[in-house]
Amino acid sequence: MIRSIVTSIAITSVVAAIGGLLFNYIFDYHLIKSIICTFLVQIVIFYVWNSISQMILTIRVEQEQTRQAEMLSQQGIDVVCAHCKSENFVPIRLDESNEFACDKCGKENSIYIDISIAQKARILDRDQLSVNYIKDKLDESKKVK
Ligand SMILES: [Zn+2]
Repeated sequence: MIRSIVTSIAITSVVAAIGGLLFNYIFDYHLIKSIICTFLVQIVIFYVWNSISQMILTIRVEQEQTRQAEMLSQQGIDVVCAHCKSENFVPIRLDESNEFACDKCGKENSIYIDISIAQKARILDRDQLSVNYIKDKLDESKKVK
């Protein structure tokens, strides 16, 4: 921490010295004032840069936390404690064993997942079963004749 601060100040001082010398050479301005101004300008620029990058980082962290909370709510399930029968919301993962400590009694529980497979049912279109649909079809067939 202190080493990085000292390194940062040293780099800033070197850049301020070079910038001050250039400013002094080009505009014939006072050397010490040029170096001090260059040093202060760098500190202001770094402060603004760090503030903006910190703000962007905070926004990204909040977005990531929101996304993780959404994912957690999609994969979680309400389960009943095997000891006290109280409901607990538990995230379910398929890549590790699912265990939780009950919110009410604090005892450990294990969750076993049983996956079932069924044929997908095809729901009939209700319009084709309605009386009006059949009547309309009969009327259309009469008009054709
Ligand atoms: Zn319990």
